[in-house]
Amino acid sequence: MEAKIQQAVALLKQALETHGDGLVYPCSMGIEGSVMVDLICRHGLDIPVMTLDTGRLPQATYDVIAAFEKRYGIRVAVIFPDCQEVEAMVREHGVNLFRQSVALRKQCCEIRKVHPLMRALKGKTAWITGRRREQSKGRAGLQAIETDPVYGLKKYNPLLEWSMDDVWEYVKTHDVPYNRLHDAHYLSIGCECCTRAITVGEDERAGRWWWENDEGAAECGLHVMSLKEISGELEDGEGI
Ligand code: SF4
Repeated sequence: MEAKIQQAVALLKQALETHGDGLVYPCSMGIEGSVMVDLICRHGLDIPVMTLDTGRLPQATYDVIAAFEKRYGIRVAVIFPDCQEVEAMVREHGVNLFRQSVALRKQCCEIRKVHPLMRALKGKTAWITGRRREQSKGRAGLQAIETDPVYGLKKYNPLLEWSMDDVWEYVKTHDVPYNRLHDAHYLSIGCECCTRAITVGEDERAGRWWWENDEGAAECGLHVMSLKEISGELEDGEGI
């Protein structure tokens, strides 16, 4: 455990030394986010923590944002979608468009997550993620440091080799604030309407967009694609 912590901190320090002000941590406010925020703050690393408020978040997520701010004396940068884009989308397709088709779900993720993330990443050269190898088959082949194939933006994955047990051991040992939905068997936490608890034996990501059968559609899009795809042609992306 201690070796994994040291490795994670070393990668965070490497990212900060390499990218300075160009580095940001977009936090999903899930359990990996708790570990990362604690690692960053405990070690005095000047890495800004940001999160996306899609407008559909559960109250528990706002509560953990507030808990981080109180505990660590930081202000989380909360990034919102463009209100005109959201209004136009809802006017055309309704408030629950994500239930109608995979395409509309991805459109909703694009407008509520991908576009604001792109705006937040403008001028940045690297970002930290909380992805872990064991989270899904799609994440098994990730590397600790990756490069976006189009724009060259680096992605650092300090928790890549951590198991779920490692994550919880860290949180409990250090009494880190965490999203209370995890106590109700939510593993991956996103928008309230698109997240559910999972049962024994289900993949960690099974609690997201569970009504979609296509396995490939179960990634949120912020990480599975290049930034070009994220920004333009669309798709949805990641762990946010
Ligand atoms: S997770 Fe659901 S509500 Fe949130 S942006 Fe994606 S489709 Fe929309």
